[in-house]
Amino acid sequence: MGNYFECNTCGRPFKEGQGIILTVAGIKLFFHSKACAFKFFKEIMENADSEYLGKDVKEVYDKYQKIIELKKKKAEKKI
Ligand SMILES: [Zn+2]
Repeated sequence: MGNYFECNTCGRPFKEGQGIILTVAGIKLFFHSKACAFKFFKEIMENADSEYLGKDVKEVYDKYQKIIELKKKKAEKKI
């Protein structure tokens, strides 16, 4: 029998290795599914100070935009 964790969003227990375990700002968080993790983080994002969070959102947004552009360029070369 492995360890059991309790989902921080819905309280459902899940086995070690099945759910999502993240450490954010030194706090260990447990989610039994991606949906519960998303719900949890969506609420944090919506409640967060937009001026403070804006920079982080822009940073990650720009990072993925660059990756998408690179992928598109590679796809173009293949044709
Ligand atoms: Zn859950």
